[in-house]
Amino acid sequence: MEAQLHEGQCGLCVHFGQNNPQEPQLIQIRLKHEAPENLVEPCGLPRHQLLHLRVSPISGCEGFEFAPQAQASQPAL
Ligand code: SF4
Repeated sequence: MEAQLHEGQCGLCVHFGQNNPQEPQLIQIRLKHEAPENLVEPCGLPRHQLLHLRVSPISGCEGFEFAPQAQASQPAL
């Protein structure tokens, strides 16, 4: 299942899969604001990385920061 992603969700966050930012699937997710719900990637926020946190695109936390591609492709409100 593909999920629609919004600001604050891991799939649009710069820390989602941060160890592999050029991964084509991640770039597609950021451009389309859509991701498979069952995808799991490591979070690169330093304090989460210490805990080896892995998150799905529909997760989220207060450390959210837009990935540049995701912010540039924001749908107009
Ligand atoms: S857990 Fe927080 S910091 Fe990590 S990818 Fe998700 S929103 Fe970003």
